[in-house]
Amino acid sequence: ITIEHVRKIYGRAPNEVVALKNVNLEVPKGEIFGVLGQSGAGKSTLIRCVNLLERPTSGRILVNGQEITALSGGELRKARQRIGMIFQQFNLLSSRTVADNVAFPLELMGLSKTKRQARVLELLSLVGLEDKANTYPAQLSGGQKQRVGIARSLANSPDILLSDEATSALDPQTTHAILDLLRDLNKRMGLTILLITHEMNVVKQICHQVAILEDGAIVEQGRVSQLAALP
Ligand code: ADP
Ligand code: ADP
Repeated sequence: ITIEHVRKIYGRAPNEVVALKNVNLEVPKGEIFGVLGQSGAGKSTLIRCVNLLERPTSGRILVNGQEITALSGGELRKARQRIGMIFQQFNLLSSRTVADNVAFPLELMGLSKTKRQARVLELLSLVGLEDKANTYPAQLSGGQKQRVGIARSLANSPDILLSDEATSALDPQTTHAILDLLRDLNKRMGLTILLITHEMNVVKQICHQVAILEDGAIVEQGRVSQLAALP
């Protein structure tokens, strides 16, 4: 992922909010890259620009060399399918079983029922939830819900996983287990992960590199192993 001179301004003068000032980032393929910052720093805006839910006011974003910020229509939809996303509040559909939540992106892709079922089983076993296929989200723990979210995010075999405070609603032990799972997926599948968090512990546990975002600007960046002075 290459983020070049990205600025994002919400609203209009005199009430405009500059959420991102001039952000430049390079996330190498196969790495886990953390963006650390306090509330209001611009983390969600950044990740929403990469996920194409928001458009930068200026600047460009490239994924695998393709300028995704220049896409529209069908090309844009295709590019979005190659990007998986997990959320703080899991964003599961409560009226659907675990299996049907994971199958949701596959339905949107138009996959046949037989193919969906096989793929869903594969995805659930990847996250250790084969036995919960017919359970509803309300019957799951937070950690199990996030495992479902991870399985769903991988349904279309994305190149990139975006994580928006994915462990912030979980207790420390569950956080640890979910981060282990993400690292395992990164290693086994070469999945590139861009994650945003306000927690240094998350960065220390799984990130290869980190950028610190303050007030819409990156104030520090480097390999986690070399940033010994981090708080
Ligand atoms: P973070 O995720 O780090 O908490 P955000 O990206 O959510 O930061 O917000 C960055 C800044 O942009 C904040 O000042 C926030 O109030 C503002 N902001 C975010 N989304 C919108 C929006 N849709 N409209 C106007 N301002 C927004
Ligand atoms: P809406 O348009 O209703 O806000 P979305 O199309 O953004 O919904 O998302 C539909 C469902 O798919 C949601 O449950 C959301 O959590 C999930 N989702 C959104 N984006 C992605 C993605 N890139 N990869 C996987 N699942 C996603």
